[in-house]
Amino acid sequence: MSTRIPHYMIVGGGITGLSAAFYLKKRLESAGAPFRISVVEKSSTFGGKIHTIEREGFVIEKGPDSFLARKRPIIDLAYDLGLEHELTGTNPGAKKTYIVRQGKLHRMPPGLVLGIPTQMTPFMKTGLISPLGKMRAALDLILPKRDLSADESLGHFLERRLGKEVLQRIVEPLLAGIYAGDTFKLSLKATFPQFRAMEQKHRSLILGMMASRKNVSEESAHLPSAVRNSVFVTFKKGLQTLVSGLEEALKTVDLRNGVGVVSIRKMGQHQAEVIFEDGHSEMVDGVILTTPTYQAAQILADLPAANQLKKIDYISVANVIMAFDRKDIPFELDASGFLVPKTEGRTITACTLTSAKWLHTAPDGKVLLRCYIGRAGEQEWPEWSDEQLVSKARHDLRELLGLKAEPLFTDVTRLMHSMPQYPVGHLEQIAQFREELAAAMPHVLIVGAGFHGVGLPDCIRQGKEAAWQLADLIQN
Ligand code: FAD
Repeated sequence: MSTRIPHYMIVGGGITGLSAAFYLKKRLESAGAPFRISVVEKSSTFGGKIHTIEREGFVIEKGPDSFLARKRPIIDLAYDLGLEHELTGTNPGAKKTYIVRQGKLHRMPPGLVLGIPTQMTPFMKTGLISPLGKMRAALDLILPKRDLSADESLGHFLERRLGKEVLQRIVEPLLAGIYAGDTFKLSLKATFPQFRAMEQKHRSLILGMMASRKNVSEESAHLPSAVRNSVFVTFKKGLQTLVSGLEEALKTVDLRNGVGVVSIRKMGQHQAEVIFEDGHSEMVDGVILTTPTYQAAQILADLPAANQLKKIDYISVANVIMAFDRKDIPFELDASGFLVPKTEGRTITACTLTSAKWLHTAPDGKVLLRCYIGRAGEQEWPEWSDEQLVSKARHDLRELLGLKAEPLFTDVTRLMHSMPQYPVGHLEQIAQFREELAAAMPHVLIVGAGFHGVGLPDCIRQGKEAAWQLADLIQN
C-alpha cells in the first residue's frame, strides 16, 4: 500500500515565497517528514521585486539595492545559504547625505536617525530648518506623552512630536524611500512601532532615539566583521546573489515559473484546491500565499474577508539609472546621494550616487547614478514615456548638480503598484482577516510585503514564520 506524500504549495516566488519554501524544506527535512513542495511564480523569473542586471561592468539594481544590517533574518539567511562572504557594506568615504531645500543641496545634519535628531548641536546648526522650526522640534523634549491605545497616522504623530518643518523637510523625504507614501495616511503602529514605544517609554522621541543608539554595537554583533561598521549592506554581485542562492538550495523542490494562480478554494477539512491560469487545478495540503495583497484578494475572492485586503493601496514608482564617465561629473563623489522633499516640486524624489555609495557597482573611471520618481500624490508619471522620464530626471540633475553630460547609457524600471501603504488600523484589520482565513481555510497562510514590513529582512522573517506555522499545523 503506498502512503500519500503531503504536497505544500508556495504561491509567489519573491523573497517572501522563496524564504518560506527554504525554511519549510529545512524544517520538514530535519523532522524526517515526507513532503513535496512546489513554488509557483506567475512571471518568468524568481525574486519578485529583486532584479539585478550586469551591464558593461556595472552592477545595476532595478528594485531594492540593500538592506538594514541590524535586521537579523536576512543575515541569518545569508549564513544559512553560505553566502556571508559575499556581503559588502557602504563606502566609508561617502557617508554624507544631502536634502534639497529651495533648489540647493544642504548636508543632512550628522546624528539624524530615521530623521530624528540624536545630536542637538549639528541639528541646531542646519540651514534646513528655520530657528522657529528648531525650537518647535526641541519641544519634543518636554511635551507629555499621549496615552493612546488606538493607532494614529505616522504624519500626525511626527508633527505633534517634532513639528511640521522637521516632518516636511527631513523625515518625510527620508521615509519616502521606504514607503513612497503620504505620512498622514500611513499607520504608525504598522510602519514605525518603535517611535510609539519610545514615546511611551521615554516620553520624548528624541530622548528615546538617543537611548536606542547606545545599543548599536550590540545590534551589529551578529554581522561578519567586514560589514560590521555599515548601516546598510548588500551582496558584492547584487541582491540577485540571494535569489540565486535560494534557487540553488531549492533545486530539489518543484520550482515553477510562468504559472499564475487564479484561485484557492477549501476542499474538505484538510485540503485546498489551487486553480491555475491555464485552467488546471491541484489539491494541496497546505498553502503559503505571498503575492501582493491586491492579487491575493482576487485569489481568495470566495472569502468575504478578502475585501479587507483591498484597503491596502500600492504606489507606483520608477527609477532611472544613468552611467557616466568620471571626468564628466562636476561634483564631489563623497556622499551617498540626496533627497528631494515634496515641497520642492521636482520630478525626482531622490538620487543615489550609487557608485560612490557602493564601490562594487561601477568599473574604474565610471559613475552610476539612480534617480527615483513617484510617490503618493505624484502618480502621473506612468503616462510618461521612458524618454520623458530620463529627460525630466536629467533636467533635475542639471539644475541641482550642474550635471550636463550625456549619459553613457540609461535604464528605466517601472515598478507598477509596488509599494504597499499600510493604512491607519492596518494591524487590527489584518488580525481580523487572518482570524477569518484561519477559520475558513486553516492550512492556507498569507504573508509578504503587504502585511508586516516591506523591507527584505521583514519579508524573510514573515516567510520563515509562515513556514514554521505551517509545519506545526501539519505535524499536530
Ligand atoms: P514580491 O517581490 O512582490 O513577490 C511576489 C511575487 O508573487 C512576484 O514575483 C509576483 O510575480 C508573484 N505573483 C503575483 N501574482 C501571482 C499569481 N497570481 N500567481 C503566482 N505568482 C504571483 N526593501 C529593502 O529592504 N531594501 C531596499 O533597498 C528596498 N528598495 C526597494 C525599492 C523599490 C523600487 C521597491 C518597489 C521596493 C523596495 N524594497 C526594499 C522593498 C522590497 O523590495 C519588497 O518589499 C520585497 O522585495 C517584497 O517581496 P515579496 O516576496 O513580499 O513580494
